[in-house]
Amino acid sequence: MEWPPKYRHDFYPAADQEYWSPELETMPPADRDRHTLAKLQSQVRYAYQNSGFYQEFYKDLPVDPADLQSLEEFAQLPILTKEDIRHEQEQHPPYGRFLCVPPEEIFRVHGTSGTTGRPTVFGIGKDDWDRIGEAHARILWGAGLRKDDTVMVAAVFSLYVGSWGALVGAERLGATCFPFGSGAPGQTERAVEWCSMVKPSALYATPSYALYLAETARQMGFDPKEDFGFRFMFFSGEPGASVPATRRLIEETFGCYIVDQGSMAEMTPWMSNSGCKHLDGGMHLWQDIVYTEMVDPQTKLNLPLGEEGVPVYSHTERTSQPMIRYWSGDIARWDMVDCPCGRTYPTLVTGIYGRVDDMIIVRGQNVFPSRIEDVLRGMDEFGGEFRLVLERESGQMDRLTVQAEVLAQEYAAQEFNPAELEQIRERFTAELRRAIGVSVGVQLKLEGEFERTQFKARRIIDLRTP
Ligand SMILES: [Zn+2]
Repeated sequence: MEWPPKYRHDFYPAADQEYWSPELETMPPADRDRHTLAKLQSQVRYAYQNSGFYQEFYKDLPVDPADLQSLEEFAQLPILTKEDIRHEQEQHPPYGRFLCVPPEEIFRVHGTSGTTGRPTVFGIGKDDWDRIGEAHARILWGAGLRKDDTVMVAAVFSLYVGSWGALVGAERLGATCFPFGSGAPGQTERAVEWCSMVKPSALYATPSYALYLAETARQMGFDPKEDFGFRFMFFSGEPGASVPATRRLIEETFGCYIVDQGSMAEMTPWMSNSGCKHLDGGMHLWQDIVYTEMVDPQTKLNLPLGEEGVPVYSHTERTSQPMIRYWSGDIARWDMVDCPCGRTYPTLVTGIYGRVDDMIIVRGQNVFPSRIEDVLRGMDEFGGEFRLVLERESGQMDRLTVQAEVLAQEYAAQEFNPAELEQIRERFTAELRRAIGVSVGVQLKLEGEFERTQFKARRIIDLRTP
């Protein structure tokens, strides 16, 4: 097998074709395992031979990294964590000894912002960038993107790789690209004007941003369904696109369908987790692009289909800075689903619904913020934003209070009839208890109380003392 694979950059499927690559996307799972193993054998051998980091990391293993015999042997390679990357890059700045090409061959430098620690640096070679475009074009084709679409990328163009992946994929596919960006003062108002003028047919953003765009449009007297022309939207960076109520809300607001995407900054912009235009929430795992295992958060052992665990990702065709068995820290459940698209990939059934670190334990029950979001967005009186306040009671019990906005007209009733507002509070409390299995406190806030986000929402306020 030729590795890294070569792609024809002048290849396009016919517009009415479901698949970019019918062979890769519909092969029987056992054949795919063989195909993926062959790619991983080459990827691991290459990394082991060219990266000082992996030579040290793979010392004294029960398996030979240069000659892996099976996916089971592959699963015996150690898991790589964000801490490992940080530590390595601190010792050998800026890339660590991950680079397998000379530094002058780096085509793009990206990274994480480092809001929760030392920033991490990703060097991406030109060949890798081209393969990223191929992979991204393939999954965007599956999402329904065609050459006659205009894609508005309304996310920051900076270190954050999500926007760039969407752009390079849409470019390779031959769509019209509209790299609008986001985050500058007044830019959302301008986005509304441009949406009504250019009428892009597809949007890439975060789910929170799409809702903020709609809210801004309404304030300016526009109707996002009538005055814009979105046919579909694809999202990454947040779980919202697979949160059923958020999904419905965005679809109804804009009159379009939406597709959930996203894995980790360290793996992307190879976008290997992506829904298709038929899948109602959740993401297919395009295993031949990036190989995903599901791992038990405690034992770190691989889990079979049907189980909930932590996705662990591996590049299969990256020559510049390969990540092998990278621990995502996310929580998801995987299984085979009978999707009308006919793809034979395993699927993250309800997307990525939380982080291991974000999981809140209230009276012994695991609670994910995305589940709370789903409940709130299903309530008629909900005002659009919420916060989760965590406190520690004496006796070591964690207490969770949900602060939820209520629509202004409902809230105004309080002045004249506080009992009415109390009824709403009780209804919120009961719905949350039913959905998450434990009682949590609920405080109602007036619509507009909480800041709207232009990027990823931060909704947890942790007042617990360590
Ligand atoms: Zn599908």
